[in-house]
Amino acid sequence: MTANEYIKVRFGRHMDQCTNEEIYIGLLEYVKDQAKNKEIAGGKKKLYYISAEFLIGKLLSNNLINLGLYDEVKSELEACGKSLAEIEEIEVEPSLGNGGLGRLAACFLDSIATLGLNGDGVGLAYHMGLFKQVFKDNLQTEEPNPWMRHHSWMTPTERTYRVDFGGFNVTSRMYDIDVTGYDSVTTKLHLFDVDTVDESIITDGINFDKSEFKKNLTLFLYPDDSDDNGRLLRVYQQYFMVSNAAQLILDEAVEKGSNLHDLADYAVIQINDTHPSMVIPELVRLLQIRGIKMDEAIDIVSKCCAYTNHTILAEALEKWPIDFMMKAVPQLMPIIRELHNRIHIKYNNPEVDIIKDGLVHMAHMDIHYGISINGVAALHTEILKDTELNAFYKLYPEKFNNKTNGITFRRWLLYSNPELSKLIEELIGPGFKKDATELKKLEQFMNDDAVVQRFLDVKNTRKTVLKNYLAKTQGINIDDNSVYDIQIKRLHEYKRQQMNALYVINKYFEIKEGKKPARPITVIFGAKAAPAYVIAKDIIHLILCLSEIIDNDPEVSPYLKVVMVENYNVTLAEKLIPACDIHEQISLASKEASGTSNMKFMLNGAIAIGTMDGANVEMHEFVGDDNIFIFGEDSDTVIKRYADGSYCSRDYYEKDANLKKCVDFIVSDKLMEVGKKENLERLYNELLNKDWFMTFPDFKDYCETKERAYAAFENRTEWGRKMIKNIANAGFFSSDRTIEQYNEDIWHL
Ligand SMILES: *Cc1c(COP(=O)(O)O)cnc(C)c1O
Repeated sequence: MTANEYIKVRFGRHMDQCTNEEIYIGLLEYVKDQAKNKEIAGGKKKLYYISAEFLIGKLLSNNLINLGLYDEVKSELEACGKSLAEIEEIEVEPSLGNGGLGRLAACFLDSIATLGLNGDGVGLAYHMGLFKQVFKDNLQTEEPNPWMRHHSWMTPTERTYRVDFGGFNVTSRMYDIDVTGYDSVTTKLHLFDVDTVDESIITDGINFDKSEFKKNLTLFLYPDDSDDNGRLLRVYQQYFMVSNAAQLILDEAVEKGSNLHDLADYAVIQINDTHPSMVIPELVRLLQIRGIKMDEAIDIVSKCCAYTNHTILAEALEKWPIDFMMKAVPQLMPIIRELHNRIHIKYNNPEVDIIKDGLVHMAHMDIHYGISINGVAALHTEILKDTELNAFYKLYPEKFNNKTNGITFRRWLLYSNPELSKLIEELIGPGFKKDATELKKLEQFMNDDAVVQRFLDVKNTRKTVLKNYLAKTQGINIDDNSVYDIQIKRLHEYKRQQMNALYVINKYFEIKEGKKPARPITVIFGAKAAPAYVIAKDIIHLILCLSEIIDNDPEVSPYLKVVMVENYNVTLAEKLIPACDIHEQISLASKEASGTSNMKFMLNGAIAIGTMDGANVEMHEFVGDDNIFIFGEDSDTVIKRYADGSYCSRDYYEKDANLKKCVDFIVSDKLMEVGKKENLERLYNELLNKDWFMTFPDFKDYCETKERAYAAFENRTEWGRKMIKNIANAGFFSSDRTIEQYNEDIWHL
């Protein structure tokens, strides 16, 4: 049955007589129907990818592409005067993730299904998701982000579980979202929810009563954790997630014939960051309830679990106070104590203890009681082994391994950039769609100027698409003849949006002083700041203020524009990335575990300005010095400087007159006219007295490197060659490769 026929049966009318809303609903149901036909038959062993976040993006087009229905549906719609683009607008992007970690989980699900592996995702159905970002008076404000509609990709299932907390229990329900593989099978994303959640407890913005756990359990992703009740709620959420996951895992294993002693033959669990770590004691607990002795239960669980570390930032390695655990999940503490005691007796080394100073170290539990621990880029894994987790590496060298992140090329090339995809197919055939390494064949065209020109033409097309999109959706007008310089990622000091902002100030002064750039520059930011992260919000404030000042300055505005897109999400990323000329990957070396937007940009022929950090290091290896702009101090230097505590930002400020001028501008009268004194002064003082992520030592090199990049951009043909070199070498960063490695080294499906 075609989509058209399906809609006719569903609504009793031909497509051209349906509203866009009806067509959307019809297509949604049609896709679910088609996906069902491809449900994986299932092997004995199954992967459970447990994650607090799945930043999946809109699904309609993605599913149509993966099911091979995209072109057909597109022309059916066009035949009755509709466009798929306008139908897509009806879909609300699911709001189930913060940033890179959640987007990685989504790319992984796509690759798992595409490779035909028996693996499902497990997470939570947050009703209001992550907050929606709204700018008011040059400040970020937060609003609820309701995304579950009556007609949604989530399908309720019959599976419900009881989850016990200290003093009360809840009954969960599992909802499924189909995960369609590209020309392959369908697997599932299981999201758990409770029907006692009450959206009406939200007062203003995203505030709600944090102590009403039955009503708020799955209300928001990562509620504000600046106070104890917010932090405690995270423990409730995490336990709710893993208790459901553990019950599902045991039930499915038993359904397939497991006697639970052989659980490892039926289940492997990937713990995505520490948020799902309680799955370990929870499984031990449930196995005991099902009649297995503690010793053996621990043994069984230890053969099933693998942990992915995503960061070395200390604040992200979760440690929960024992009194939180005793309040929320008292039934787990005796088991965690047992897990701790065994380690304490065996190693007699406080560094590797699970319980220390009244805190439970979640990552330590994962490492001791799992089969594998992996970092997410080569450099990151080396830093884990050498410094942060060195004591563990000495105990278990065989458990440590690297899995450099990847992205799904279906979404980030075929869907987001059909013009580029078509050009590539014309040049090297369609093989790259299934085997990303075939992109390497593009290198043979690097010296063919006519082909190079076509890559430049595609980029220009996409720059105009972005221009029109931003005008329509955000009322922002940009010049598509300018160079698009883009930094989009969560707002965090380590990612150093503040350094990019200082560069903007530097450029503003240059233009004021008569030094005009060869071509107008459009600097685009997109970033949400955690609601309680004060300095991050101050950085957003600075950027919005700069944007206003420059827009209103006729001397500067013809040459420079600063844009901060509102509510950066996957949908916006899909528009921004294909249009980008230069992308900013400027984290302080050693701090960005991998990054994945860097890979999306590379695949779309944008050139990076970056530090030797995360996966930038591997990108640099692939493309060489001439095709990426590397700057800044390396991770060894940075790690040493942290270790000896020698960094003093004020020294740099005093010695570099240009830097001083840029930093001082933050608290100048000009800024105060459009901004808030409190916020700007706080940011200024933070930089001057702390600058924990060391923007000042890299600032000069950064400015010079940006000038080099802008100059290189003016040699259009040479730039086109750089673009091709980047696209041709992006194959390694396909999440299909990453998932193959997980399966070969860890999962063995
Ligand atoms: C890819 C992606 C990210 C991750 O970006 P990084 O620059 O790697 O931190 C975050 N948010 C969205 C919406 C993305 O698509």
